[in-house]
Amino acid sequence: MKSSRAPDLVIVGSVGIDTIETPREKRVEILGGSVSYACAAASFFVRTGLVGVVGTDFPVEHRALWERLGINLDGLQTEEGKTFRWSGVYEENMDNRRTLLTELNVFENFSPELPEAYCDAPYLFLGNIAPALQLHVLEQVHSPKFVLIDTMDLWINIARDELVRVVGKCDMLTLNESEARLFTGADSLDEAAEILLAMGPRFVLIKKGESGSMLVSTKGSFSIPAYKLDDFKDPTGAGDTFAGGLMGALAESGQIDEAAIRRAMVYGSITAAFGVEEFSLDRLAALDRAQIDARVEEFKTASGGE
Ligand code: AMP
Repeated sequence: MKSSRAPDLVIVGSVGIDTIETPREKRVEILGGSVSYACAAASFFVRTGLVGVVGTDFPVEHRALWERLGINLDGLQTEEGKTFRWSGVYEENMDNRRTLLTELNVFENFSPELPEAYCDAPYLFLGNIAPALQLHVLEQVHSPKFVLIDTMDLWINIARDELVRVVGKCDMLTLNESEARLFTGADSLDEAAEILLAMGPRFVLIKKGESGSMLVSTKGSFSIPAYKLDDFKDPTGAGDTFAGGLMGALAESGQIDEAAIRRAMVYGSITAAFGVEEFSLDRLAALDRAQIDARVEEFKTASGGE
């Protein structure tokens, strides 16, 4: 993907330098953050513009990797100080993760300002950052064709009203099952999805980890299983990779109907399945579109799907 023209898809989120420990391995100071994973995934499909902030300590090789993926960095701000740091540890089954450290650094005063060329982007993905900042970005984009929003338990707990307001202005909301329950107070996912749809988005995508994902709209619900991996190293950022791949595939298709979203869901899920095979963006950096297409075909055949 060339990055010289205006992006088709703009993504805002966090850029992190992560330290991650799994039962088998510990990796220190590796590239992470929601926008990092999402842009890398989307870059296989369309011209993607990154909106985020890093400190003056941000390693040049991380920037070089984004550039190699063709990600447009005109929306990347560099501020005096340290880049956001995050550290987490996975338990034996890799299902549960504990946060050990969150150091906001330059992320604390992040005010996302979009370059002129980004304001006409037809597709927008508001990755996981404070709802007020998501709204600020949304207000800068002139007339987006399709807006996806992600969130996390932190914002549901401390900024619920703002989150509800911005979700109401988006076309689609993505969150995982525990977040869906926390946000709505509903036990069943069907009920949670109904409450979330009533907030305004036309589509709700609930991620269920190894149980796959479920898209709900007024037309009903559509589920896909997760791609079965024999082994994976690091699930960090899987949701961001899923959403980035989904938005990339959707933007590439030029359609925003239910069928296009279902198809894009498969692309997002498969791209995420590649991402978790290695730490950080290591696997995505070595991936190409043909490998994604081949795995999508294999997945469709195995699930007897569309
Ligand atoms: P996920 O696995 O989807 O939770 O995403 C993990 C990524 O989110 C990591 O690479 C972190 O750098 C980043 N992250 C962790 N905590 C936060 C936070 N409070 N706000 C934004 N990004 C975060």
